[in-house]
Parts: sequence; C-alpha cells; structure tokens
Amino acid sequence: MITAAAKLKRAQQTKTIRAAYDAAILNPEVATTINDLSFHLAPKSDNDKLRGKVKKNGRRQQVAGTISGRQTCPLSCAWINKCYGKFGPIDYHWGAVTDGARKNPSQAKPIKFDELITGIKALPASAMIRFSQVGDLPGDGRDLFYAESLKMLAAADHLAAAWTYTHYADSLDNLRAVRRLNKFAKAAVNLSANNDADADDLIARKCGPVVSVVAADDARKTWITPGGNRAVVCPAQLREIGCGDCGNGRPLCARKDRDYIVAFRIHGGGTKYVQAASKAFQLPTAKRNG
Ligand code: SF4
Repeated sequence: MITAAAKLKRAQQTKTIRAAYDAAILNPEVATTINDLSFHLAPKSDNDKLRGKVKKNGRRQQVAGTISGRQTCPLSCAWINKCYGKFGPIDYHWGAVTDGARKNPSQAKPIKFDELITGIKALPASAMIRFSQVGDLPGDGRDLFYAESLKMLAAADHLAAAWTYTHYADSLDNLRAVRRLNKFAKAAVNLSANNDADADDLIARKCGPVVSVVAADDARKTWITPGGNRAVVCPAQLREIGCGDCGNGRPLCARKDRDYIVAFRIHGGGTKYVQAASKAFQLPTAKRNG
C-alpha cells in the first residue's frame, strides 16, 4: 500500500525528472537518434581495473572497454554529472567522445555506432568486453534505444564474457527493455542500484543482475540486505585483481544468473557526492512507477 506521503513524493520526483528532461531537450546536444551519439572502443583496455593482472600461460586476459557519450546518461541517475567519470583523466576522454571530436590527439577517439559494432565483432573470441566504462546504454537520457542497445550487446555474443551496467531503471518501459536485453543478448546488463533498499527493489523486478554501492569505509565483505538478498563486495576491491581475473574466467558482473548483489565501495572522484546521494535515495518503487 502506497501512502499519501509516498504518492506526493513520487509525484514530485517524477516532476523533477521530467523537468530535467524537458530542459535537456532544449539543448541541441541531446541525442534524438543513434546518429547523434559517439562512442569509443579500446580493444585492449589499459584500464588497470579491467585487464587481467594475473598472467595465465604467459598472458594477461584481454578486456576491451567502451565509452558512450554523456548524452546516454539517464537524467534520473542519482549521481548524474557527479559520478567518477566527471573527475580526472576519464573526464578528459569522455568529453571528446561526447563532443564527437577531439581537441587533442591524446584524447579518446570518438567513433560512430556502425564503427563500434564493426570493432566489437572484430575482437578475438578469447577477449572480454565491458561496455560503457562511462556513459550508459545507447539512449536519449529518458528512454534507452532498445534496438541499438541489443545490436551493440549482440555484437559481443562471440566473446568470452561481456557485461555492462545501466541506470535506465527509472521507468517500466526501460525495465522491460533491460529484461529483454538480458534475455536476447549473451552480455549481462546489470541494473545499478543506489543503495541496499534500491537493490532489493530491482532484484524483485527480475530484469537482470543487480549491482549496488556502499560507503567507502564500509568494511563488510558480504552481508544480507534488509530485503533478504546476499551482497558481496567486488573482489577487485579486496585483492589485487582486475575484471579479467575475476571469477576464474567468469567475471561476477558477466554472470546474469547470479543470485547475489555485487556491491562496490564508493571510490574515486565524486565519492563525497555519490555517498550523499546514495544515502538520500528513497522510494525506488514509487520512482519507477511514476
Ligand atoms: S565484480 Fe568482478 S567483474 Fe565486476 S567489477 Fe568487480 S572485478 Fe570486475
């Protein structure tokens, strides 16, 4: 039963999201079709958090990484414009990808969607890929582009592992789209929750695996959420490994059938803001039905 106070808060929250969207569509930079977006593909990411650190048969696991323009970020995201992607070198690269043009050759090279698909299909079968190290699934900030998202994820069906995360869990349409993406592509689309309660809500919706965040100084390695779900901290935050080494060749974030939450201790640039937003986030159910 939703109380009157909850309904009011829901209405306010929905109004805020829609106002942000309406303001954004006045901005000529907002994406209306996939052609408005740019991406970046690093076939062998040099991101230490991604590539394998442990050598097997003399080699480290190859993990490709992509970047999607900022226009893909859902306006409802609790930490939009304040996440780690807005701080440090990644912001420098993300800006070029968002603009579709480099101001400096040292920035990430933006490519259009068709080139991204060709590049992903050309990756060797032994490689893994993590989509959208910053940015989200192709979308316009309010609705994800289902057909293009599926095309992008399915291009990685031949790879050893593929995964991504999305904050497009702010409407029933987006949730249904994520459920279908998880059904039809091999890649795992993790729903990004803002805290334990949000994670419980997303798990109950059965749209895909769920990840969440906890405070930077939270010392727990595993726990049970208020909703009775098990959460485990990302192994790379507990020992010296990269995603390429995680889960013995089956990275936890690529396991769409897992029955536990992967939790990240908030870290990097934006920690203070993300922690505050995570703590303040409430009423996920009301938000998603708004
Ligand atoms: S749980 Fe594994 S795959 Fe996911 S971010 Fe951590 S190391 Fe990478």
